[in-house]
Amino acid sequence: MDIDALLAELTVDEKASMTAGADMWSVPGVERLDIPPMRVTDGPNGARGSALLGAGGPTAACVPCGSALGATWDVELVERIGHLLGQEARTKGCRVLLAPTINLHRSPIAGRNFECYSEDPLLAGRAAAAFVRGVQAEGVATTPKHFVANEAEFERQTISSDVDERALHELYLVPFEHAVTDGGALGIMTSYNRLNGEYCSEARWLLEDVLRSRWGFEGFVVTDWLAAGSTAASAEAGLDLEMPGPGRFFGRALAEAVKHGEVAEDLLDAQVRRHLTVMDRLCAWGDGADPPEEAVDLPEHRALAREAAADATVLLRNDGVLPFDAAKLSSLALIGPNAGRAHLMGGGSAQLRAHYVVPPSDPISERLGDRVTHEPGCDIDRSVRAVGPAHVASGDGEAALDVAYYATDDWSGEVVRQETAPSGRLLWFGSPGDGVPDTGFSVRATGRLVPPETGTHRFTLIQAGRARVLVDGDVVLDGIEDPPPRGREFFGTGSEEITADVELEAGRPVDLVVEYTSRDAAILYGVKVGYQPPVPDDLLERAVAAAAAADAAVVVVGTSDEWESEGHDRTSMDLPGDQDELIRRVAAANPRTVVVVNTGAPVTMDWADDVAAVLQVWLGGQEMASALDAVLFGEAEPAGRLPTTIPLALEHNPSYGSFPGENSHVAYSEGLLVGYRWYRTRRLPVRYPFGHGGSYTTFEWGTPSCSDDSYVPGAGTTVTVPVTNTGDRRGAEVVQCYLRPVEPRLFRPELELAGYAKLWLDPGESADAVIELGDRAFAYWDPGDRELDEVRAKLAGGGAIVPATAGATRRTERGWYVDEGRYEVCLGRSVDDLAATLAIDVTAGAGPL
Ligand code: BGC
Repeated sequence: MDIDALLAELTVDEKASMTAGADMWSVPGVERLDIPPMRVTDGPNGARGSALLGAGGPTAACVPCGSALGATWDVELVERIGHLLGQEARTKGCRVLLAPTINLHRSPIAGRNFECYSEDPLLAGRAAAAFVRGVQAEGVATTPKHFVANEAEFERQTISSDVDERALHELYLVPFEHAVTDGGALGIMTSYNRLNGEYCSEARWLLEDVLRSRWGFEGFVVTDWLAAGSTAASAEAGLDLEMPGPGRFFGRALAEAVKHGEVAEDLLDAQVRRHLTVMDRLCAWGDGADPPEEAVDLPEHRALAREAAADATVLLRNDGVLPFDAAKLSSLALIGPNAGRAHLMGGGSAQLRAHYVVPPSDPISERLGDRVTHEPGCDIDRSVRAVGPAHVASGDGEAALDVAYYATDDWSGEVVRQETAPSGRLLWFGSPGDGVPDTGFSVRATGRLVPPETGTHRFTLIQAGRARVLVDGDVVLDGIEDPPPRGREFFGTGSEEITADVELEAGRPVDLVVEYTSRDAAILYGVKVGYQPPVPDDLLERAVAAAAAADAAVVVVGTSDEWESEGHDRTSMDLPGDQDELIRRVAAANPRTVVVVNTGAPVTMDWADDVAAVLQVWLGGQEMASALDAVLFGEAEPAGRLPTTIPLALEHNPSYGSFPGENSHVAYSEGLLVGYRWYRTRRLPVRYPFGHGGSYTTFEWGTPSCSDDSYVPGAGTTVTVPVTNTGDRRGAEVVQCYLRPVEPRLFRPELELAGYAKLWLDPGESADAVIELGDRAFAYWDPGDRELDEVRAKLAGGGAIVPATAGATRRTERGWYVDEGRYEVCLGRSVDDLAATLAIDVTAGAGPL
């Protein structure tokens, strides 16, 4: 396509229209010139399409969450996942996938850690680049996000992440740099937060100097949703696209600014040129105006999702109990709140309606039949679950609720739209659909509820807007007359949960009606009606009795999309509810207890040494259950390694005391010492170190070697470690290479990951792990010191008699530098399990790189 010619044809209004969304999920095209609209979809673990948070819409493939992909340490696998997601995005008619999320795990309790890959920038960066390559090869642009320093959810639209220059360059920018320079990302999404007081979408030094000039980024920069804050300042800083639409600062407002001479037309041209260039690279010119959204559930996607879930599984501990031999297992107690419920993904914009939702209990019960007893042991719901098809049915019995929409906010007038809903959690971004206005509407949802037991049943309500719940015609919860205060649900726009207890009889159906009005809400509208039948009070005792009677116990513990979610951070690293107690009691009752941790981020594991085995399965996507079953019974290798340290306690984490922030600022006061850089440098014990993970087989390493014992910048060098599988089954070894400068000129963390290689070996097979090291493995960011001369001159001018002191030499030019000297190359199976150390002498300095 001749982009110059196209650009010359476009009017200012047409050009400006392409700088802001048409609606929630699309950027307008220009029909007159056959420029199609560009549709976008979240997100990192699947392509959801235009449905929100898993509510309605066609189903989508759900792959393991970001921390799980980080745990694979497998760039090639992540690239294949990228292909899968690119294909999925196309089935939703989309040309942009709002992913990957590549902020770092600064604190274990940050709400979106599950979306992010790692605490280490190299591991995160390599995964990011691979993901981007895979998705984009399918004709779908990516938007690595959130650029930059968005490591918490707390006050996320206003907080300033205060990060020093070295930490910013050596840690937080690095994953984005990889995504752009190695991955070729065609988009970048700016963060909600400010960086050192300035909004990233208004930071010219960040978008133009770092992203475009230094890294050579050629794509478009898009805001996070509703995060735009200015017209001229953002356009001049290098922002291209305001989302969602209609734009408040770009689009029509930008056209006016150009016409009034407040923004140069050249800037608008540059924005539109980038948009058109991306369309051209994606070969998107022939896209229809309104492509259909489809659910396409392919066997090869199922297989890949399963492979990734198993490869992400980390065997944290194993005294030999795993893998189980199904033939010899006479009985198994399957325990835990997450055993019978599928927690496949975290909450927020990453959430989607998976093609299928399978809890761990399904494949395990299928395998062992009546040898399994299943007990939840405790409950971890933070709020009561939305009423669903287990208890309530729509008129045709196909869904949970019949939903009728009115174009008024008081259920008056005609029904303008009707549909069914899978649960009592209804959520709309803008208008709920054709015929319904995007403000001032009302909804009535009805279903027939059949109580499973006689007793006290709990109904709950959370609203973004106003709603009430009627049971058999009686208003039992009234958020219209008496609205509850603001809570955390619905990205923080929802209310607190209110509850009502109602006596019901087993088997006697009642009518459930939910009435919702959009009053008091804007843009995001929602209602969640929860239902909880009577809960037995001996859950824990039953679980312990089942464990005592069984040959072995598997306890599946974890969190849920309520605990790990966009919109809020966790307040504790502990497992929710009574799960720690449950594990202790079950382990005491059965020495062959395996704990399966189903979370996206670390949890406190004080019980770890008292159980036979621990598996970390993350939020493993639609194939999590089958992968877990395969790992437990030895059909798959738990091939993951920790992409993030599991500390002994939250208080040991370096961000403790400066997380999530106060007075609108969060000081990244640990500087360079994030994650293992802190624990190693400060010699602090951890529960499980970065890079840790066991295998079902055994490996022996030969003598490592380096292609050279000295290093000249620009030359590159290769470290080789021969590895042999000495066990009797196929398995994966991850050889990790950490660098330590012996006498650094500026402070450096004790060890930093410089490279890694994952090998899959058959029994008896040998191969070399080959790790390439280039200049950046040795380099650090020197912010330089431009003050010393000035200060010295001041001292001298004042007639000071004591000469000005100077430490090491200063540079005035900031940048990446390699210093001469000796470096230790440490090779290990984790950052705390180093098997060999080589020395390399860097014979000449270099920089700025
Ligand atoms: C999130 C983004 C997401 C966007 C669109 C925002 O709330 O921070 O990651 O892509 O919504 O859903």
